[in-house]
Amino acid sequence: MTRIISLLNQKGGVGKTTTTVNLAAAIAAEKNDSGKFNKVLVIDLDPQTHLGLHFGTDTTGASVYDLLMDESVTAKDTIVKARKNIDLITSEVDLAAAESELASKTDRHDLLSKKIAPILDSYEYILIDCPPSLGLLTINALAASKELIVPMQTHFLALQGVSRLFETVQALAGGLNPQLEVTGIVLCMHEKNTKLAREVVDDLQGFFDSSRESNVPWKNCVIFDPPIRRCVKLAEAPSFGQTIFDYEPDCAGAKDYAKLAESVIAVHRVVDVEVVNEHA
Ligand code: ADP
Ligand code: MG
Repeated sequence: MTRIISLLNQKGGVGKTTTTVNLAAAIAAEKNDSGKFNKVLVIDLDPQTHLGLHFGTDTTGASVYDLLMDESVTAKDTIVKARKNIDLITSEVDLAAAESELASKTDRHDLLSKKIAPILDSYEYILIDCPPSLGLLTINALAASKELIVPMQTHFLALQGVSRLFETVQALAGGLNPQLEVTGIVLCMHEKNTKLAREVVDDLQGFFDSSRESNVPWKNCVIFDPPIRRCVKLAEAPSFGQTIFDYEPDCAGAKDYAKLAESVIAVHRVVDVEVVNEHA
């Protein structure tokens, strides 16, 4: 079963795109249960087009805008190869107009979901890089996903931001996609030795622990280990169109994202075992 994961946070600059790129690269470097490398599709839903730029991929062809707006365009028409085992559906600046253009369509919420349905079998993972807003593009991502991963920074009021985000997600996804779960938080640009960071992590952990028994989409949410340390190489790599594994495979950022991929992959196994047990 394909894991379809949206990387979501309504705040910009928190590490969504950096995490999408490097998590995709790290997941594609791991083998699946049948001993083959994972196949990953990444989709850019942010009109800023950073995802394609970060991979150094040509972003001039058909984009996710065409996919959403033009009935005759299929996912296959928009897919480009970003790396071995990583395919990409790129964005374009015109996508900014999609929010208002989509508003008049009756199936405006699940266009993306319908368009990617025929290609799910080709991938183990689909990662969707969301724009920093909760408009119709993000709603399309939520409707198409099974899971959310929330990249965030341990700032003052971080917990308030996250709980507000989750409540909005619950309200938006409720009718559209009751299966949607918040899988985990990725702490980005993390400075673990500061008192603030420790306090924020404790607050978050307390919030999740208190939600375990309730029927909310974040009841199984984890704070992924490891956090992603602040690492200047991660900020440099995009200007070369490279993932951190192309650019500086031995740096702290590469190590953190490689381990994060293992943690993200491991969540899947637990969920699968639970599903199997439920059906036994
Ligand atoms: P978003 O997609 O949420 O807007 P980005 O992934 O683009 O956020 O990250 C915002 C900025 O922070 C970018 O310049 C990026 O290179 C930088 N950045 C992200 N993660 C790290 C990190 N762990 N260490 C240093 N810089 C980072
Ligand atoms: Mg981004």
